[in-house]
Amino acid sequence: MWFAELVQQYERLAATPKRLEMRGLLVELLSKVPRDELRPTVYLMMGELRPEFEGVELGVADSLAAKAVALASRSTEKSVAEGLRKTGDLGTTVEELLTRGEPRLGADPLSVVEVYNGFLRIANSSGEGSQDLKIRILVELFARASPLEAKYLARFVLGKLRLGVREMTLLDALAVTFADGTKEARAAVEAAYNRSSDLGLVVDHVARRGLEGLAEIGVEVGRPVRPMLAERSPDLADVLTRMDGRAALEYKYDGLRVQAHIPASGRVKLFSRRLEEISAQFPELVAGLPGAIRNPPAIVEGECVPIDPETGEFRPFQEVSRRRGRKYDIQRLQEEVPVRLLLFDVLVAGGATTLDLPFPQRRTKLEKLVRESELVRLAEQTTVGSVTAAERFFETAIAAGCEGVMAKSLAEGSTYRAGARGFWWIKYKREYTHALADSIDGVVVGAFFGHGRRGGRYGALLLAVYNDQSDRFETFCKVGSGFDDATLETLPGMLKPHELREKPDSVVTDLAPDVWVRPSIVLEVRGAELTLSPTHRAGVGAIRPDAGLALRFPRFTGRWRDDKGPTDATTTAELVSLYRSQIRQIPKGNPAESPP
Ligand code: AMP
Repeated sequence: MWFAELVQQYERLAATPKRLEMRGLLVELLSKVPRDELRPTVYLMMGELRPEFEGVELGVADSLAAKAVALASRSTEKSVAEGLRKTGDLGTTVEELLTRGEPRLGADPLSVVEVYNGFLRIANSSGEGSQDLKIRILVELFARASPLEAKYLARFVLGKLRLGVREMTLLDALAVTFADGTKEARAAVEAAYNRSSDLGLVVDHVARRGLEGLAEIGVEVGRPVRPMLAERSPDLADVLTRMDGRAALEYKYDGLRVQAHIPASGRVKLFSRRLEEISAQFPELVAGLPGAIRNPPAIVEGECVPIDPETGEFRPFQEVSRRRGRKYDIQRLQEEVPVRLLLFDVLVAGGATTLDLPFPQRRTKLEKLVRESELVRLAEQTTVGSVTAAERFFETAIAAGCEGVMAKSLAEGSTYRAGARGFWWIKYKREYTHALADSIDGVVVGAFFGHGRRGGRYGALLLAVYNDQSDRFETFCKVGSGFDDATLETLPGMLKPHELREKPDSVVTDLAPDVWVRPSIVLEVRGAELTLSPTHRAGVGAIRPDAGLALRFPRFTGRWRDDKGPTDATTTAELVSLYRSQIRQIPKGNPAESPP
């Protein structure tokens, strides 16, 4: 097919905002494209060269594209820059320049396949001389293009094709063009896409063999499955009603969703919720997962959560996001932000797909599949049949530092619904919009050595409140945030006179800091909220027999309370009453929560 035909249809697609009309134009186009050109045509239309998860990119900077346009249109770079300033779009600029210039005589018309292959060569070129090669290919394409073709070439190159064709509209069109266009056909097309995340593969199969061709597209290790998504509910009674009175409840961890593909041999691949490959950013998971999975090939899913290695407590999820986009300094960040993967589902076990099993069976498979370690664990789970039991589990989840719970249907139909949001999974969160109103004055009773950038110095302090009944110091947080570099420098000198070899009797805690400190220094911290804690001992038994209180996401405010001695710090009784007042403040469920 000639590229000219394709861009004519591009023009019409770009001009309509209506989904039905767009579908009609797509059907018209797809019916004309020869079979073996469908795949490149579909990728090009979506502004891609390969399925998105492969991460194939042209790697052409704006300046390089502008230079190619100047050379091909025999204009100066200055006039290209001027045009660009006026139109804000290199596509329109090159279209205008070529229209004004001398008409091309005798140039070979471009075919779709030539354009596609040219782009692929650009994407595959790297290293020395690659810039020259890229510009040469671009100039050749532009030089053979009509003004209209050049417009779309330029937009594609810069990742700004803007045809407005959404995946779902394209799937509509595939069902109409290559099957009978019924609801069932449409569902089969979408299911194949959800399993493979590859529109090119789907078009190839459906065009050759219709619905039977689609059935051949299975789940494959190395190719991400579009993730199953959750609905939300404002209260646990509603959750249980929707799940017929019984449900599995899991901790809802606050981190980064990871789909891990573990082949029988070869490299582990990790994909984000948006199906970008993030293996390079989490080398410890890539290295550790083969040992954690008993029966590869496998695909498992979980939440990757930043963790404090000493306490096992979760850290704010922002820390793990810092690791996601990283290209450099990966090792340093790995040390600074250690993570744990909490697995909650299995998609392939022992090479067989488990997508069509109901959730309870998948969970059993997952439990058999996983060898738990510090790095990889199963998501905490229980089965509940009453609102009271659900609330109790929810409180435990919050106390463990989670943002809420995820309810999962136990019904026959609770298969893994790739790419779909439904009430098979329901999330229930408590929103932490009510940052703790009051600051807390804590006493330093211990210190931890830093990691990574804080190596060789103290990285965090163990803080306690004062129990004026028992005359003891009970710990309630480990604080590492809010210290600037200058303060970190001065910490060792400041603590030195108070350091102890052993825990003083006056300190009550389940934690073991690297250095104990005699209670003497007081500082001010703030945090998101107080939660029940298994390791901190402040006010133990006041709310629940075995649980103390902990400050979630503590942060040093920068104020040393030199004016206070240790027994002038916040007391245990004050902490308990802060906890109680906060319960009254936080509404259950939050209808104002924004949609995902
Ligand atoms: P949200 O991002 O608020 O829509 O919540 C859904 C997300 O919660 C999922 O995509 C996962 O990343 C995350 N999550 C945390 N814990 C679980 C769990 N136990 N089961 C399923 N998803 C979980």
